[in-house]
Amino acid sequence: MSKYVYGFGAGKADGDGSMKPLLGGKGANLAEMNKIGLPVPAGFTITTEVCTYYYDHERTYPPELKAEVAAAIKKVEETMGAKFGDDKNPLLLSCRSGSRESMPGMMDTVLNIGLNDTTVAALIKQSGNEHFAWDSYRRLIQMYGDVVLGLKPESKNDPDHFEEILDHVREKAGAEHEKDLSVAALKDIVVQFKEVIKKHAKQEFPSDPMEQLWGCVGAVFGSWMNDRALVYRRQYGIPHNWGTAVNVQAMVFGNLGDDCATGVGLTRNCSVGTPGFCGDYLINAQGEDVVAGTRTPLRVEETFGKDMPESFKQLTEIGKKLESHFKEVQDIEFTVQKGKVWMLQTRNAKRTGFAAVRIAVDLVNEGLIDEKTALQKRRIPADDLNQLLQPIFDPAGKKKAQAENRVLAKGINAGPGAATGQIVFHASDAEELWNKNNDVQLVLVRKETSPEDLRGMKVAKGILTAFGGASSHAALVSRQMGKTCVCGCSALNIDYEKGTITVGGTTLKEGDWISVDGFTGEVFAGKIETKPSEVMEVLLGKKKAEDAEMYARYAQLMTWADKYRKLKVRANAEAGDAIAAVALGAEGVGLCRTEHMFFDHLDEIREMIFATKLADREKALAKLLPFQRDDFTHLFKTMGDKPVTIRLLDPPLHEFLSEHHLHDDETLAPKLAKIFGVSVEQVHRRVDELKESNPMLGHRGCRLGIVYPEITAMQARAIIEAAANLKKEGINVHPEIMVPLAGYKAEFENQAKIIRDTAAAVCKEKGVEVEYTVGTMIEIPRAAITAGEIAESAQFFSFGTNDLTQTTLGISRDDYKSFIGDYMEKDIIPSDPFQTIDQPGVGKLMKIGVEGGRGTRKDLKIGICGEHGGDPKSVFFCHEIGLDYVSCSPRRIPIARLAAAQAALDK
Ligand code: PEP
Ligand code: MG
Repeated sequence: MSKYVYGFGAGKADGDGSMKPLLGGKGANLAEMNKIGLPVPAGFTITTEVCTYYYDHERTYPPELKAEVAAAIKKVEETMGAKFGDDKNPLLLSCRSGSRESMPGMMDTVLNIGLNDTTVAALIKQSGNEHFAWDSYRRLIQMYGDVVLGLKPESKNDPDHFEEILDHVREKAGAEHEKDLSVAALKDIVVQFKEVIKKHAKQEFPSDPMEQLWGCVGAVFGSWMNDRALVYRRQYGIPHNWGTAVNVQAMVFGNLGDDCATGVGLTRNCSVGTPGFCGDYLINAQGEDVVAGTRTPLRVEETFGKDMPESFKQLTEIGKKLESHFKEVQDIEFTVQKGKVWMLQTRNAKRTGFAAVRIAVDLVNEGLIDEKTALQKRRIPADDLNQLLQPIFDPAGKKKAQAENRVLAKGINAGPGAATGQIVFHASDAEELWNKNNDVQLVLVRKETSPEDLRGMKVAKGILTAFGGASSHAALVSRQMGKTCVCGCSALNIDYEKGTITVGGTTLKEGDWISVDGFTGEVFAGKIETKPSEVMEVLLGKKKAEDAEMYARYAQLMTWADKYRKLKVRANAEAGDAIAAVALGAEGVGLCRTEHMFFDHLDEIREMIFATKLADREKALAKLLPFQRDDFTHLFKTMGDKPVTIRLLDPPLHEFLSEHHLHDDETLAPKLAKIFGVSVEQVHRRVDELKESNPMLGHRGCRLGIVYPEITAMQARAIIEAAANLKKEGINVHPEIMVPLAGYKAEFENQAKIIRDTAAAVCKEKGVEVEYTVGTMIEIPRAAITAGEIAESAQFFSFGTNDLTQTTLGISRDDYKSFIGDYMEKDIIPSDPFQTIDQPGVGKLMKIGVEGGRGTRKDLKIGICGEHGGDPKSVFFCHEIGLDYVSCSPRRIPIARLAAAQAALDK
């Protein structure tokens, strides 16, 4: 048995489907398909360990590898009855990457390895098809030049020597595609391609098949570290040290004639999740023709049954066998050679959030999997639920666009959702525009996309392509990113040079607005307003559940999630958002930021801030009290018997009153001057006094309430009065009053005393007892470290991980955007610490806080209310360290519910 090379073929395999870390996804599944008796061309997999070795040893191989590969080739030769490099019966090989997690299109592939001037002659004889043989040869030289010798253009400005020659020859011959060229033209192309290699790669195209193979193996290993693969791994959190495997496999040909075909397919629709085999195929073509988007393929579900009935039957059977074996929707590559279907790859299919939910729920209902399996995070990444909640086009806006004849064209509905944005043609331009303004709405319009476009696709709201089918690169990557995508919209005439799209008589320029409907494939000129999705409409009571197919599945999934999760999920919400929060499943409010309520009462709060005397401040606070009380009453009523955590005033006061406000509103300074009987200059002076050099570390949080206890007293009064009034109406509410930014027990106790004294006074006045608790945020390291002491007085904790991250890392939450991109690009940190908890640092402090707090008060209720509360990875961590709940923005509640269930089920 070889150490680094695992063979497969003729129903036998050295490896199996469980060996993905070693054999990569493709290699492991090729082995598994062999084992379950599916037709797979023989081949072998060079393990990921060789990749790791390669990078650890200055791009060299383990000494045993050469002999192991030679032995594996021999076995393939025996199985296939052909010989590599033979001048009569040559075996041709393919060489493909295959990492543990699929990284579609990010790494390299070379086909037809083994062809040279001698073997091409043998292939002609053997196949009786001169066109096929020469076309295969020119493809090898082109791929070898691009991939192994690095001639592939890196940017839009670099010349593509091979494509230039192809364009030229096609134009001369009046042919649309290479398949329409004469044999003489193909021979001529081969000669010209060899010259390109000589001129630009400064070497001859190697005629020795073994040299070709080793060149390809090196190129595939090398592609693990190419820029687009690095970007992809960063985006999807795939570790760089996993490495890729290399799969070498006997070629089967889909381009031998009209009884041959090649295709990619899905065992269910992965855009919307509906059952039934679907995919793209091309008759008389080779694999990369389908995915490259250079020819628009045909739909398997529409015409393959008619074109090749026998092969369609084989394919359908294979699809069923794969689904019942893998218990999962499969994404396959196949080739039909003279009527026989060969499987080249199977893997779990990438899908949109819609499809993920529908497929998982349907598979349970079909009895293929159970509900716990349906909830697995690899089946439904919790973040993908977002897509079900994303806006769609406002029907009236869409109707109007239709009535105004703004429908430009229709393509394939590859990524559901609605996107409206300004046209941008190049990924690099999209990225640049987005870097300048993160709110920019862009639609990336390309003839077809390739892995180089990844960065642009990431920042665009939608993707639109002229070529390529539902399995093209654009479709695949958009689905995975959850982007709205319409592809294969062949009516679009895209001119990159002029920066225009022309359809019929309409021309749109770069920067013009365009709208794409990823559900229907329609493309519209101009902007169309968007509105809530079907699921959101049902949740908000605007649509009946029985009219909503997708909602039914969403609801089923959420019931399962709620059954298994341990963490409670609350919302960060004030009165205005609380209704949506409850509809989305909030089990309480984890953070009501009272300062948000002040934004509607700026005059009064400014008066309070401006005051220098206690009496003036109290006068202003008395004006604010009824507003606060009404807001709390409203919030309590919406939340009913669910707990509501209300945080006392937190931000630095000049957020409400600064020079900047005086500058923006010229009437403000005179207004304040009049109220307080001072000059306008004195107003400016006072505002200047409030200015701080480092406000995030300045006079904010409980420091405000300590210096101005009357603010805390007013807020406590408003909360308890609202609760007492409701109690009198028979509504029992559960306020949890939270002190922000405490680091010392004494700070907390100072505030808690004011709260408790005020509450006692209010209860006495009202003649009712209100139950409430007083707790603190843990959002500076000192609080986490001294949590044991603080818990002697605090009745609950809530981790404010926004500030805890800021203060632990010493990185300003408001300024970090300018360098965080570089930090991630240079692999200094794995992810944005303000989105995903930095577990070794901030997470460690949280653990200390939990242990300290519960060491003092065994049943201490602990939650999190920083932005991380809605981030699936962070939710996992919160589950792990034993928090009671996570609190997040209302939109992320379903995500947190699912992530919490996944955490609970994750062994
Ligand atoms: C926090 O710091 O995590 C928090 C929730 O408070 P804020 O974001 O309002 O500072
Ligand atoms: Mg905070």
